[in-house]
Amino acid sequence: MAHLCWLRRDLRLHDHAALAHSLAEETTLVFVFDRHILDRLADADDRRITFIYQSLVEVETELRKRGSSLVVLYGRPEDEIPKLAARLRVSKVFWNRDYEPYAKDRDAKVERKLRSQNIEAQDFKDSVFFEAAEVTKNDSGIYKVFTPYKNKWLEKLSEQDHRIPEHKCDLRNLRKFSNTESILEADWYEAIGFRPNPPLLSGGTKAGRKRLKSFVDRLEDYESARNFPARPGTSSLSVYLRFGNLSVRDLLRTGLQNPSPGAKVWVSEIIWRDFYQMILDTHPYVEKGSFKPEYDKIKYPGTSAHFKAWCQGMTGFPIVDAAMRCLNQTGMMHNRLRMITASFLTKILLVDWRRGEQYFAQKLLDFDLAANNGGWQWSSSSGCDAQPYFRIFNPYSQSEKFDPSGEFIRLWVPELQDLNNKQIHHPDGKNGKYPPPIVSYQINRMRCLQMYSVVKKSADAN
Ligand SMILES: Cc1cc2nc3c(=O)[nH]c(=O)nc-3n(C[C@H](O)[C@H](O)[C@H](O)COP(=O)(O)OP(=O)(O)OC[C@H]3O[C@@H](n4cnc5c(N)ncnc54)[C@H](O)[C@@H]3O)c2cc1C
Repeated sequence: MAHLCWLRRDLRLHDHAALAHSLAEETTLVFVFDRHILDRLADADDRRITFIYQSLVEVETELRKRGSSLVVLYGRPEDEIPKLAARLRVSKVFWNRDYEPYAKDRDAKVERKLRSQNIEAQDFKDSVFFEAAEVTKNDSGIYKVFTPYKNKWLEKLSEQDHRIPEHKCDLRNLRKFSNTESILEADWYEAIGFRPNPPLLSGGTKAGRKRLKSFVDRLEDYESARNFPARPGTSSLSVYLRFGNLSVRDLLRTGLQNPSPGAKVWVSEIIWRDFYQMILDTHPYVEKGSFKPEYDKIKYPGTSAHFKAWCQGMTGFPIVDAAMRCLNQTGMMHNRLRMITASFLTKILLVDWRRGEQYFAQKLLDFDLAANNGGWQWSSSSGCDAQPYFRIFNPYSQSEKFDPSGEFIRLWVPELQDLNNKQIHHPDGKNGKYPPPIVSYQINRMRCLQMYSVVKKSADAN
């Protein structure tokens, strides 16, 4: 009896539900560079490919120390996994569940093919702490508002005495490979049509653990520091969760073992992650449309020229431009800035939130369909538990409040470096090198309220 464990968004060898179970028998590990996903990536320098590559090299190095190796394939998983399973004559294939519509469809196809070959497939909860069916209302209904969801989530945690289980992986049962040549030493990037482009945060569990360890000292101050993009107030661990170099349980354990008001707020943010995964799992239509369907009636009059200026960080609104330039150059953006730029695109430039969502999906190192979609629908008011449509972030006051000395703006919009701490939030064309605002905030704020009136009318009619 031999097993195959298929790694996907869980690139680690510890606290891994599928791997822990698979290792009950001799196990081979495989990763597939999925053409369905890669073929849609427009940028040959996409940093996420390098992040994945770095993570795989780390996994493979650990496996080779134990006389084993990692099988790395390129193709369509529904072809590659059943083919490999047959070649290795395994009796079972293990993987961790993924709640994205594409992934659910892919996994169902792989499972069907395996069954037709008399090979079993088994999947596990791993990437979230609680799945949709575990945190429901008393009448089994699905929560659409975060706070009661969070309360129930915490209640479930206390029912298990706040214990965070660990899926221990006993690596002694790995399949031995006589061939010690690493498949990743060959020119993988070229073979799959990409070029190496190392991100600021390196991929791998070691790098993730180091970041988590350094964050523990700042955890206590999280609540007060987390809104200021110029400060290292947040953990920057989202990418390690996205690709599973760390488990969600690694983070929760850290949060619970270091109790403080800051840790409590941080754990809440991790619960938001479960919340959006639950929403995507139970309402897959949100991938394409508004959670609240009446919001799909809105006609966004924003122009392509304004969208382009937003993408390039050339809107004449310094905090927005600084955030977008930072995203373009690093693949990273602070949460406060994601809220400001998303609100600005939809409610001031009046551009459809889906265009912004797509742009973030191309650029963010930590891009995650559930969290990104949830964040955009929250910002554009079309989502569950979203901010009301008439709440419109003022980019000037947000800038004054959360980047008071303009430190973040100066870093990314060097044209404004010489302005004083007051002017830097409102350069208004005073600096010839920087564009004047492409729209009037006040006028477009009023246009936005008008634009959303179709929603109000349909709500009034109901
Ligand atoms: C428009 C918009 C788009 C977003 N797109 C993404 C995305 O593609 N991927 C992504 O991981 N997050 C996304 N977020 C959520 C949030 O901005 C990031 O998770 C956060 O900035 C990551 O930084 P951190 O690791 O330092 O977070 P911390 O503040 O240290 O939080 C710890 C962890 O909690 C989770 N988390 C925090 N806030 C949220 C949130 N609002 N929703 C869901 N999970 C959260 C993340 O996994 C994060 O790593 C988006 C938010 C908005 C408003």
